[in-house]
Amino acid sequence: MVYQNTLEFAELMDANDPLKHFRQRFYIPQHQGRDAVYFCGNSLGLQPISAQTHLQAQLDVWRQIAIEGFFEGEQPWLNYHKSLRKKLAPIVGALEEEVSIMNSLTVNLHLLLVSFYQPTKKRYKILMEGNAFPSDQYAIETQVKFHGFDPADAIIEVPVEADGRYSAEAILATIAQHQDELALVLFGGINYINGQFFDLAAIVSAAHQAGAYVGFDLAHAVGNVPLQLHNWEVDFAVWCSYKYLNSGPGGIGGIFVNQRYFYDTTLPRFSGWWGYEEGKRFLMAQGFVPEQGADGWQLSTSPVMLLALHDAALTIFEEAGGVAPLREKSALLTGYLEFLINQINQAKGEELFRVITPSNPEARGCQLSIVCKQNARRLFDYITAKGIIGDWREPNVIRLSPVPLYNTFKEVFIASGVLLEALDNN
Ligand SMILES: *Cc1c(COP(=O)(O)O)cnc(C)c1O
Repeated sequence: MVYQNTLEFAELMDANDPLKHFRQRFYIPQHQGRDAVYFCGNSLGLQPISAQTHLQAQLDVWRQIAIEGFFEGEQPWLNYHKSLRKKLAPIVGALEEEVSIMNSLTVNLHLLLVSFYQPTKKRYKILMEGNAFPSDQYAIETQVKFHGFDPADAIIEVPVEADGRYSAEAILATIAQHQDELALVLFGGINYINGQFFDLAAIVSAAHQAGAYVGFDLAHAVGNVPLQLHNWEVDFAVWCSYKYLNSGPGGIGGIFVNQRYFYDTTLPRFSGWWGYEEGKRFLMAQGFVPEQGADGWQLSTSPVMLLALHDAALTIFEEAGGVAPLREKSALLTGYLEFLINQINQAKGEELFRVITPSNPEARGCQLSIVCKQNARRLFDYITAKGIIGDWREPNVIRLSPVPLYNTFKEVFIASGVLLEALDNN
């Protein structure tokens, strides 16, 4: 794509955008009486307009038939998560039975570490990315301690390089180097700070070659980039639904468990009645027998209201034709932002904004992470006051994530104008 630094070009791109109508399916936050430029879908996706009707429908069922809602009505609560799983499985590239919808991300990470972190005296180490999201760090640290190991010894981190990126070669080499002591490789799908999309297939094959389990935290990847968890032979994965999946703050999480573990009775797990073999759950018998598939990891009664919000959002993904067309637009949209930032640097004759997200579109999603050379915080506050909503990571990173479902090329153009203005006012 040959981009142009003009409003006309941005408007033409919007006019030709086959997904442009999806913006109208969301509430756009307001800033001083106008639409804000919301580039924060990496932290909290926008509210689908249909969220309210989906929620209201379940409130009505509760009001009208109460307990019968589990078995009666258009969408009996007992099976609600199954109809959602149908919509979610293609987004992560999984068989339906490999996906379950439950709890929230960090809770699910702990539950799956119970199953997939089985350290022995010889194999007890976990390899992860340096600067992983804090919740992942804390989860791993406390799991390691729980098993009686020392985090300083048991956790191996692949550090970020001087250019702010992770080296794909270093990741694979570090796995190979520790192949006799690794119990687990746990990586983000996309790193939350620099926006780098890791080569997950390569990590899986290196981890398996080393004899370790491999799991992914897909918080920033799900609904953002194409995933093939089943075909890549990932062992397990977890994600949240409130970022690119637009299912509301604290929305319900999801898990993937590879089909090959459905009949593996040696995997330890913490269980609850909702994971019990479904046909016999209400016999309330002694002795836990898991439901086959990822649903066997469920603990508790599904939170129906959260499922309703998730439903509203996943229905939009389905109508948009899934992740593939979104990805196509996303590459153009984020590419346009990158182009305009480079234009600013050129105009200033100096790299005042350094994008630490990989420049290869295959190695990133929507997000660009921009290191500001001068007065970073002041700059961020300036653009926020002008209605450009991104987010801030200490000490000097601004993250901007144009999202293909609801953002436009014109918004990217406007944002770059405000960034330039911010420099001039700084
Ligand atoms: C957003 C995010 C989380 C959030 O975890 P919750 O349990 O949903 O609060 C975890 N890990 C990563 C990598 C994230 O980006």
